[in-house]
Amino acid sequence: MTLTIRTGLFAAAAASACLSLPAQAAGEAKNVIFFLGDGMGPTTVTAARIYKYGETGKLNMESLKRTARIKTFSNDAQTTDSAPSMAAYMTGVKMNNEVLSMSSDTLAVAPSKDANGNKTINNCLPTNGKSVPTLLELAKARGKAVGSITTTELTHATPAATYSHICHRDTQYAIAAQAVPGGAGFNAALGDGVDVLMGGGRNQWTPYDATTNPLGRSDSRNLLTELQAKGYTVAATKTDLAAVTSGKMIGLFSSKSHLEYEIDRVAGKGEGPTQPSLADMTEKAISLLSKNANGYFLMVEGGRIDHALHGTNAKRALEDTIAFDDAIKRALSMVDLSNTMIVVTADHDHTMTINGYSHRGNPILGTVTDIKTKQPANAADGMPYTTLVFGNGGGPRKVTRDNPALVDTTATDYLQEVGVSLGGPGSETHGGGDVMLFSTGPGNAALKGTLDNTKVFGVVKSALGL
Ligand SMILES: [Zn+2]
Repeated sequence: MTLTIRTGLFAAAAASACLSLPAQAAGEAKNVIFFLGDGMGPTTVTAARIYKYGETGKLNMESLKRTARIKTFSNDAQTTDSAPSMAAYMTGVKMNNEVLSMSSDTLAVAPSKDANGNKTINNCLPTNGKSVPTLLELAKARGKAVGSITTTELTHATPAATYSHICHRDTQYAIAAQAVPGGAGFNAALGDGVDVLMGGGRNQWTPYDATTNPLGRSDSRNLLTELQAKGYTVAATKTDLAAVTSGKMIGLFSSKSHLEYEIDRVAGKGEGPTQPSLADMTEKAISLLSKNANGYFLMVEGGRIDHALHGTNAKRALEDTIAFDDAIKRALSMVDLSNTMIVVTADHDHTMTINGYSHRGNPILGTVTDIKTKQPANAADGMPYTTLVFGNGGGPRKVTRDNPALVDTTATDYLQEVGVSLGGPGSETHGGGDVMLFSTGPGNAALKGTLDNTKVFGVVKSALGL
């Protein structure tokens, strides 16, 4: 079978009908939106589906017809951290844990603390590995508009993998400097700069002050002022964001950390009242980037799914997964799928699992039930146990578990049981299992079967004709 002219959706249909076809023709997609649910492994996807839409329901990401299974191991680890996994998607290169968008031989060297106790001292030597190009940089070089938005600090591993190159993810102050056109430490591969940047962690972009900015930069630079001088609009609140209608922008919606978890943002905790939803951030990014006639590349991260899972706090993880899925829904309502490729995936799994044989309709955050009686099914110790548990983790439950019959396991702050105690809160590890990838739009025909995470880079690059 030969096909000499294949374009757009027809190509995807033809390719799926014939396994012997080569990958799709290059340059079919004008735009790409790459959605990354940090730590959103298969169990989290299933649990979020049941939590929000029931067993027979469907997440918005699950409406994307083409799926693949992704291998996530890094250059040196069976179980990856977020840095090399996202960087593998963005560069096609396997690198060591903690390394961001650098060659495979790059050694991870952590930053040191300055006199203020902040890790502002970059220990990545120029001789330690080489930068490798990212999809965002390649798209920029082709005249496309580019954006990177997240619910974590903007300098956190996932967004940083799109626009920076560094030997250790914790070197966040240097990562910030890489985004400032013309400034010291600028990543020149970004041309005139990333068009749309959003996230948290304003402290990494502004000077240290013992009272007002104790986690600030030690080099006295105000990167936001420098960005303004380069034509960027700076937004600090959702009101500021709503007012942006054109041009380049940076939105930092948290003064010293990540954005609030979605459930806390909605409840008005902390800086939540001034923070936009990820869906609203996505809508603004698309509206700004789509003004470029050459198209755009946008990365959208639901970054705190991972944090809640590290804390064995399933409810916050599921709520953040739904917020991420709602951002996908918003994007799907705005774009033309005849010229826009949508990819949704995760960087790695976690150790959460769904256990027991509960009856249909039992709350996913509840305790396991007996199918026939719909009453709690007890463990060997005579106590009920929750449907969602973690293979390992910390938190208050170490050897003797709380009795789930006596506590509300659906409460926001409830921490699920763990198999292996690793000590303190947040110590739950990533899982080393494969993750899922959902996609639609032109150029996605090869995103099927079982793929290494580095292969996704090539498919997206080819689809955009980069
Ligand atoms: Zn991650």
